[in-house]
Amino acid sequence: MRNRNDTAAVRRGPGDALRLSEERLKTMIELSGEWYWEQDENYRFTLIIGAGSAQTGIDPQQYLKQYLGTQRWDHDAVPVGDDGSWDRHKAQLEARQPFADLVFRRVDAQGEMRYVSTSGQPVFDGKRFTGYRGIAKDVTASMRAEQLLRLEHMVARCVAGAESAAAALKEVIRSICETQGWECGRYFGQDDKATVLVMNEFWHVPSPGLDRFIEKSREITYATGVGLVGQVWQSAQPLWVTDIGKDSRIRMGVARDAGMHGTFLFPVMSEGRPTGVLSFHSRKVREPDERLLQAVGVIGSQIGQFLQRKQAEDQIQYLATHDGLTSLPNRVMFSQLLNLAIQSARRYTRNFAVLFIDLDRFKLINDTLGHEAGDKLLQEIATRFTGCLRESDVVARLGGDEFVVLVQEVSEAEHVATVARKLLSAAIKPVVLAGQECRVTASIGICLYPADAQDEQSLMKHADIAMYLAKEEGKNNFQFYSEDIKVQSLERLTLETSLRRALERDEFFLHYQAKLDLRTGQITGVEALLRWQHPDLGMVSPVQFIPIAEETGLIVPIGRWVLQTACAQNVAWQREGLPPVCMAVNLSARQFADEDLLKDIAAALEQSGMRPELLELELTESMVMQSPERVTRLLAAIKQMGVRIAIDDFGVGYSSLAQIKRFPIDTLKVDRSFIRDLAGNAEDRAITEAIIAMGKTLSLTVVAEGVETQEQQTFLLNHACDAMQGYYFSRPVPQEEFASFLRQHLASSR
Ligand code: C2E
Ligand code: MG
Ligand code: MG
Repeated sequence: MRNRNDTAAVRRGPGDALRLSEERLKTMIELSGEWYWEQDENYRFTLIIGAGSAQTGIDPQQYLKQYLGTQRWDHDAVPVGDDGSWDRHKAQLEARQPFADLVFRRVDAQGEMRYVSTSGQPVFDGKRFTGYRGIAKDVTASMRAEQLLRLEHMVARCVAGAESAAAALKEVIRSICETQGWECGRYFGQDDKATVLVMNEFWHVPSPGLDRFIEKSREITYATGVGLVGQVWQSAQPLWVTDIGKDSRIRMGVARDAGMHGTFLFPVMSEGRPTGVLSFHSRKVREPDERLLQAVGVIGSQIGQFLQRKQAEDQIQYLATHDGLTSLPNRVMFSQLLNLAIQSARRYTRNFAVLFIDLDRFKLINDTLGHEAGDKLLQEIATRFTGCLRESDVVARLGGDEFVVLVQEVSEAEHVATVARKLLSAAIKPVVLAGQECRVTASIGICLYPADAQDEQSLMKHADIAMYLAKEEGKNNFQFYSEDIKVQSLERLTLETSLRRALERDEFFLHYQAKLDLRTGQITGVEALLRWQHPDLGMVSPVQFIPIAEETGLIVPIGRWVLQTACAQNVAWQREGLPPVCMAVNLSARQFADEDLLKDIAAALEQSGMRPELLELELTESMVMQSPERVTRLLAAIKQMGVRIAIDDFGVGYSSLAQIKRFPIDTLKVDRSFIRDLAGNAEDRAITEAIIAMGKTLSLTVVAEGVETQEQQTFLLNHACDAMQGYYFSRPVPQEEFASFLRQHLASSR
């Protein structure tokens, strides 16, 4: 019995059965979108059925013509994976093994990149290998989709893992170029004012021609609507140009001049607005890739979001590395820049200098004119300093009134000295603060790399040490670091520590120096001078420790002690039966700025019971010149108490008598530097004469300081100077010595 099928087969005959199975195969292949192939023993295609179907849009005849007789690896085909090498596949074939889903790519006759996936088996005739047969399909669409998805992920990864916006952009550009086959990519971001686009980042395959192209690109800015970049910025839409060499929209341009053809641009979007443009070029003509055009919508906004978050982070980063008041780099950033300078100086055997700058008496301005004035001054100084330096140099604010400058590539010390001089003269130019014209000076310490120090810490420390020397040398000057100063500054450090304990330990005492009234020959006054008996160092001069006490603020309690002790001593002498003498007490700037000063004076007078008119406070010119309004009030209050006021070291500051006369001053003490050279220096004689004469017209008592010789005394006497003080008449001495000196003097002058 035959079943129905058998009947049919028989009815159609054996030729029919073959045709039927061929038809079935054809249908299957057509429906699956795959094609069937056979190869000979040399892996040359001998048969291809079904390739180039409607799905791929390729003409079947053309396909056959192109591939029959060739091998799989001809036509520049490249396997995906295996590092693009056919070796593994060839080994499989040589071993006559079957293979499945081998994917490779090649550019088809239309110039399109196509991906093919194929599987095959060896064919044997008996035991003889005759070739391979198998199936293949075009997987371009799914590969592109997968690739674009990967690209999206890759962009996401790039931006998430990047250290900076710049690094992220570079990575994104590189990945797009590499995966999409572009030779060069550029990112155009908005300039500071967001008015034009400028190239911020780029990547290109290594090529000198492209280097030049990038260099040229740096010089161009795109306004909205201008050039392809400007058009994309304006339209917020991607743009594909198959060949910029033939596009009527492009008449000129660096990309075209660089031999570019295929071009693709898309906007970077943030909050729905285009904020930048990415542009890619290829030397090949390229047909639009619709899927890439679609994918960049996501990519563009991913990048945009990232850049916007960065920007925010940039802002944070900026705040963390810059000084809020002056916008200069701060300590953190300076440290980074300094380390970079060290590295590159080391590599290229270069020199540089670190300059430590501290404003002199800044505290006084802050205290007397207020913080706003102080802030304004710092801003002004920051601008001036920046203006003195080259682009490559760095000026940073370390805090307070401390600045630091990095001067790059200094061939000789004299060059740094020139920079330091410039900075000093920039500082000293007048500045109007709180309605008043003020001048500040600066002290600068210089440390040279590599001569003085080679690492960050030592460079900073040594510059700082040199700066202290500049302060000690009288401020408004600069000093180079040397090993000698280091020793001095170590001494200073020990001084500072022990100075803190000196008050508690009762290590201070006063010496008294008599003042002689030149007209009457009487001792009419005495100056209290502070002395410090250090347990190890012995007697330390006030010239050494007063500046330290001043800086550290210790001068306030120390000065209070001086005031109390001097007043108490004055009263004690009178109790001993000595005639009353005027007691001069020195005040330092810090004390003068201290708001408790009036209270301290009142307390000293009250506790001792001393007559206020016997107390004379010695101030320096600069103290009264700093903030005239406050000083006027303060001096009036002191006068109100009945206390006298003297200007100490007169003539060395920059005040004039005309300015001084605004204040209720009683005494002028001519600085001893004028007295010292009276005999030899005509100018000093003239100045001293003038001060005495003008002091007289202002009804001031004029006292000459530092009189050491008979000659000097005679000169002063002849020019009607009121009084003198100096070693010639008496050195500063302990209280009991002064008491007996006064007693003797009284006896001899009777
Ligand atoms: P000054 O107020 O101008 O004091 C005069 C200085 O000149 C004293 O130095 C004194 O010893 C010195 N001197 C006096 N006669 C001669 C002389 O004939 N030749 C020379 N070469 N020098 C003479 P000293 O005691 O070392 O004080 C130096 C400075 O220290 C003082 O200058 C003053 O500015 C400061 N000072 C001293 N005691 C105090 C104090 O109690 N408080 C404050 N704030 N400063 C003080
Ligand atoms: Mg004095
Ligand atoms: Mg003096």
